[in-house]
Amino acid sequence: MNYWHATAAALALAAPAQDIDCDVAIIGAGYTGLNAALELARSGQRVVVFDEAPGWGASGRSGGFCCVGGGVLEEASMRRRYGASAAQKWTAWQRRAVQHVAHVLEREHIDADCFGLGELCIARSPRQAIASNLSAAQLRQYAMHIKGAQGAHYEPIGFGLHPQRYVNGLVEAVQRAGGRLFSARVEQVIPGSQAIRLRAGGAQCHAQQLLIACNAYAPEALVPQLAGRVCPAVSSIFVTEPIAPWQEDVPRFCAMAYDARSVLHYFRPLPDGRVLFGGRGGLSESSDAMYCALRQRFDDYFPQWRDVRTQFQWQGSIALTRRGLPFIGELAPGIWSAFGYHGNGIAAGSLAGTELARLILGKAGSIPSPLSTLPKAFVLASWRRAYLAALYAVLRPIDAWRDR
Ligand SMILES: Cc1cc2nc3c(=O)[nH]c(=O)nc-3n(C[C@H](O)[C@H](O)[C@H](O)COP(=O)(O)OP(=O)(O)OC[C@H]3O[C@@H](n4cnc5c(N)ncnc54)[C@H](O)[C@@H]3O)c2cc1C
Repeated sequence: MNYWHATAAALALAAPAQDIDCDVAIIGAGYTGLNAALELARSGQRVVVFDEAPGWGASGRSGGFCCVGGGVLEEASMRRRYGASAAQKWTAWQRRAVQHVAHVLEREHIDADCFGLGELCIARSPRQAIASNLSAAQLRQYAMHIKGAQGAHYEPIGFGLHPQRYVNGLVEAVQRAGGRLFSARVEQVIPGSQAIRLRAGGAQCHAQQLLIACNAYAPEALVPQLAGRVCPAVSSIFVTEPIAPWQEDVPRFCAMAYDARSVLHYFRPLPDGRVLFGGRGGLSESSDAMYCALRQRFDDYFPQWRDVRTQFQWQGSIALTRRGLPFIGELAPGIWSAFGYHGNGIAAGSLAGTELARLILGKAGSIPSPLSTLPKAFVLASWRRAYLAALYAVLRPIDAWRDR
């Protein structure tokens, strides 16, 4: 069971009862699609969003770290490949993405249970501690009593939020601005010279433009331009029961945290005194093995909480691209998309959706240039899961060696 779903209102959307005409149809009601819908509806466009339920995908399952990120290409590689100016713009864009979410929450009066400030990258070996700006003693001020922690790098940008309440708030904001949302899966997309036709939930929708905001859940069979562009990878989370001593410490200091590993773990305190603990590395969304591995890691990091029970657990998919950076742009005439946030899509997906809306409106955007080019498809895309298994097999021993 998903803790976010259990602690947010369930928004019921109606199925489409008749055919629909609109300026822009959006497939996907996550951070990307809803931010695009909001910007478009606020500009007077007739917008329609289709999804099974708002936040059904990764947006209702994330860890709630609204932080910088969105790519896995290291800064040095980015500079070498695309130049220093592109690398700087990408760094600035990620920071702007965090501010964008804060701005939308405030402007739309969304109570997303914001909690915690900044992000800690925890070092558990002297090698990892080289990049630290907090000593082990200073780290303890953040109420993080992590066994073996040697220090951490603290990045003051970013905050924690309740992912499903953010989604729900966006839905209400879109509706207030005149946008419409329907509970339906899009089953067919037929591009045409006059309009793009969609078939969804037994109804037809005629749209001037189409925005596909499906990230790791891309409907590749409906839109051939998307085929093989992302590699979905599973991320798993569990949430503990409330921990009383932690509860007393939390309001004073708290930040979100992750460990300095390639196949990383992430954790954050929640406002009600629970701890959320997550990790990458799974290959299927229905694997119990990942939860056992996560719990073992939690017990290793926090032996003082070995007896604390797990109360919620869930999984979802993140999207990787071949080049390690997201895409924001046009797939084909009148068909737009943004995807590939590498497990950091709260801020990046939110700003990407808004940027797409601006492109559709013909306004100047501020997208760093490498992100506007469509990433190459994975070679032999049906083998993506095997690639990932091979990648994990290489990265895990490297992580273990770096942990020493
Ligand atoms: C376990 C987990 C933890 C994460 N933690 C964090 C975190 O702490 N911080 C962070 O920044 N990011 C995190 N992420 C990543 C983040 O959640 C995603 O990058 C982000 O949600 C992507 O948003 P989106 O709107 O692009 O896609 P999604 O939210 O995945 O939405 C895509 C939607 O498209 C819909 N769709 C697909 N096909 C169709 C169709 N044919 N018809 C109608 N609808 C369709 C799906 O139902 C889905 O709801 C995490 C992801 C996971 C899985």
